[in-house]
Amino acid sequence: MPLYEYFCENCQVDFTLLQSTDIDKEESECSECGSKNTRYKFSSFSAKIQGKPYADLQKPVTVDDLPNKNVLRIPPARHISEYQ
Ligand SMILES: [Zn+2]
Repeated sequence: MPLYEYFCENCQVDFTLLQSTDIDKEESECSECGSKNTRYKFSSFSAKIQGKPYADLQKPVTVDDLPNKNVLRIPPARHISEYQ
């Protein structure tokens, strides 16, 4: 289920609800005061919750993630005379 972020106009507090996608977001109640005078902000995926091991796989792999950084290091070009 996705997380939905709301702002309560009544007590001026941000709060987050874990809701099914088919719920009416206009009817959501503030978790602090119970008011329905809330504003839907935006949603974030529940998969981003910390502690999920696969969350790290969603960032791009860079050279810093490789155990041996020299693997991708290309030697500088040399003139042919340096080999003789
Ligand atoms: Zn409230």
